[in-house]
Amino acid sequence: SNKRIVHINEIVDQSLKLVRDQKKFRNIQVRRFLDDEMMLIHADVSKLNQVIINLIINAADVMKGNGKISLSTYRDKPNKKVFLEVKDTGEGIPRENLSKIFDPFFTTKEVGKSTGLGLSIVYGIIEEHGGRISVKETGTKGTTFIIEFPMYVPSE
Ligand code: ADP
Ligand code: MG
Repeated sequence: SNKRIVHINEIVDQSLKLVRDQKKFRNIQVRRFLDDEMMLIHADVSKLNQVIINLIINAADVMKGNGKISLSTYRDKPNKKVFLEVKDTGEGIPRENLSKIFDPFFTTKEVGKSTGLGLSIVYGIIEEHGGRISVKETGTKGTTFIIEFPMYVPSE
């Protein structure tokens, strides 16, 4: 596997670098709230770049190019978990779609615009990392996705 031990913040910054110059993000304010704590995970960095990029492109799409994206990292040390949250200021996910968004080919975008594969790929990658992804909150003020990873603890 291509997994190595890496700080979650390093992956977030690499993902942001990869999309920074895309037109889609020109009028979007991207904010980072990255905890200073030690937050190592055992990860395939390029796959987690795909995860983060998929989430922020979805966010940019729902905000139609205007709004704010916040990326936050933090940890739960006693439970050995590392968290990544991606929050937008879009219109939210309708309740009736919540159970379908991770299904392959589910999309609400115009026919031919998008494949509906993004979140199913994201889901699979997070599973491969022993993690979990879910929608933490969604509504007319926006949506927050939360991802939980097992924290790598060097002494083990
Ligand atoms: P696609 O982007 O190709 O439509 P995805 O699997 O990435 O496919 O997303 C599936 C659907 O989930 C989207 O079409 C959209 O309806 C919904 N969705 C995903 N992210 C968001 C978001 N941040 N806000 C609102 N809806 C979202
Ligand atoms: Mg998508």
